[in-house]
Amino acid sequence: MKHEICGMEHLHLHTDFSLLDGFGTVEEYAKRIPEINQQYLCVTDHGMMAAVPTQIRECEKHKIEPIFGCELYVNPLQRVFESDAERTVYRKDLSEADQKAFGLGSHLLAIAVSEKGYQNLVNLTSWGWLNGKYRGKPRVNHEQLLKHKEGIIFTSCCYSSEVGRAFDKLGSDAAEEKLLQYVDMFGENYLLEIMMLDFDKQPAYNTFIISMHEKYHIPIILTQDCHYCHQEHSHNQRLMLMIQTGRTLQDIKDAQLAGDTKDLFELQDANLWLKSEDELNDMWENKYSKIIDYEIFKAAKRKTVEIAKLASGVKLDRSIKLPMFPDADEDLKEKVMQGFKWRGLPTRSNYLDRIKREYMLITSKEFSSYFLIQKMMIDEARRICPELLGWGDGSEAVGPGRGSAVGSLICYCLGITDVDPIREDLIFERFLSEARGGKSMKLRFSAKPVQAMIDQDYIEEMGYENPNLPSDSLPATKAYTE
Ligand SMILES: [Zn+2]
Ligand SMILES: [Zn+2]
Repeated sequence: MKHEICGMEHLHLHTDFSLLDGFGTVEEYAKRIPEINQQYLCVTDHGMMAAVPTQIRECEKHKIEPIFGCELYVNPLQRVFESDAERTVYRKDLSEADQKAFGLGSHLLAIAVSEKGYQNLVNLTSWGWLNGKYRGKPRVNHEQLLKHKEGIIFTSCCYSSEVGRAFDKLGSDAAEEKLLQYVDMFGENYLLEIMMLDFDKQPAYNTFIISMHEKYHIPIILTQDCHYCHQEHSHNQRLMLMIQTGRTLQDIKDAQLAGDTKDLFELQDANLWLKSEDELNDMWENKYSKIIDYEIFKAAKRKTVEIAKLASGVKLDRSIKLPMFPDADEDLKEKVMQGFKWRGLPTRSNYLDRIKREYMLITSKEFSSYFLIQKMMIDEARRICPELLGWGDGSEAVGPGRGSAVGSLICYCLGITDVDPIREDLIFERFLSEARGGKSMKLRFSAKPVQAMIDQDYIEEMGYENPNLPSDSLPATKAYTE
């Protein structure tokens, strides 16, 4: 039977930013989406929105539109704790059931449908990393969701949502209660979500979700929970999950031989690629036609297009937010000249020409303030480090430099790096050139001065209102410097 093609957009999709739970890259998805006749790339990574810059760039390249989302981790018991010890005490005081529940991070799909919604999503993910991080997962609580719900569409999400977990542990009545709690929180901005997975508990869960649709008339969307772009990447996704769970291929083989694979998360689905509507129709026909009524199936697909249209056109303010100092060019010149002397550099033409060339380029790109800020941060780190450690001369605060910034003689003169690029034969243009827009410096500080700078609101003093700390895998300093 050939089914109607009524249009469908993927609204639940993980990239490799989903920390060991997404093999597909933004580049692959953006290339593939027009090939399957879709127009939007909606990224909903686990707990973070780090894919956004690449997403925008790749969407422009492939003439599709970006939609910004996130699969948030939610735990209603999460609070702001001053220390790990405070959290431990809080947890110990909870009832036994809540102590268990405190360990969970339930999933909630969130899609920004306006600029305000995007800002709210950024706020939520930042709050999660700053205040809600537990066992590596950034969690938000219901209060934060309520505070930042404007401009966001939320869905009932997957089996690991609060609703799904209630359904699994306590049955449909408890799941219904949970679901109504979400309807209460988000009203019309809360949608139901069905998926056609191999996962053996999914069919019964879909049946429950559809019953809620019939009872409360909440619209449903169909998603694929994409974790990679192509079917053949299913194996790679599985290997990636094994890194996360710490299992080996032998463990999997042993479990298969013993016939005990039901708890193996890695084996639950080989069905998570970016499917075309035809492929989704096939899946419905082969596995889900008895569970999802055809009219509901079609309406759930169409609803994704409606949401995609609603969420498209969110324009982000991408102007550079660097504080600009008055007379920054002059100030930079002065500090470079002082540094040149301080380093004891020779006044030979190769040094002088190089300094001039770098300076011209930096000022023409209006980066003088940026270089001065880098210098201020490093000077401050060097100043407070001996105080904090109780020893040393400050050189322990920061490494000799990393990345292409070590190719800058101006960085060397300013004390940002400790490498003379002329002596080491390093090229400045790898860092900054006429042709390229600009590059950021990636600095590494030892942990203590960084924490001290955060504690002293030093970063805010320089004009950064909301320094974003994306995750452990992206060092805080990187976020500050970019
Ligand atoms: Zn999920
Ligand atoms: Zn997901």
